[in-house]
Amino acid sequence: MRSHDAASATVTPAEDAALIAGVRAALCVIRRRLPPYRLIDGLLDRSTFHAAHEHACGAGRNYLVFTPDGQVARCHAQLHTPVAGVDDPRLLTAVRSAATPGALQPVAVSQRAGCQSCRWRAWCGGGCPLLAHQATGAWDQRSPYCSIYQTLYPEVLRTEGWRILKYATAPVMA
Ligand code: SF4
Repeated sequence: MRSHDAASATVTPAEDAALIAGVRAALCVIRRRLPPYRLIDGLLDRSTFHAAHEHACGAGRNYLVFTPDGQVARCHAQLHTPVAGVDDPRLLTAVRSAATPGALQPVAVSQRAGCQSCRWRAWCGGGCPLLAHQATGAWDQRSPYCSIYQTLYPEVLRTEGWRILKYATAPVMA
């Protein structure tokens, strides 16, 4: 569920349904050949179940993107909005500062409208902040893919559960 130049930041209900159907079809294939290693963190983009977290990614906090000409941006989708140069002595401060106009703002999920009471917030993080901004014009909004996440999280959890059960009852073969 990553954005790209050919995609709209907003999704229609029909597109939601198509995306959900596509992921469900993929999960069906995966369930037929469940592997012996942990899958759950790679099944939905921008989602991880390793540990509870406040942000969907490290952009604007601990993530640096370098351009070929020595500029540094907060996100690989914002190369056109660099916040520093590689020779800037205050590089990390610049990346973490909210001062650059137009640069990505890393609003925590606990500050995102609609996310505070969501049962999935500790694993979702509110989704890609840039995509939310493109869809709504604000940085503190939830992901335009929210309904897709909420529909698919239980199915992703079930898939990992079945995988664990499969290898809990049979020894893992090398
Ligand atoms: S599933 Fe939706 S409401 Fe819940 S944290 Fe993610 S974007 Fe926010």
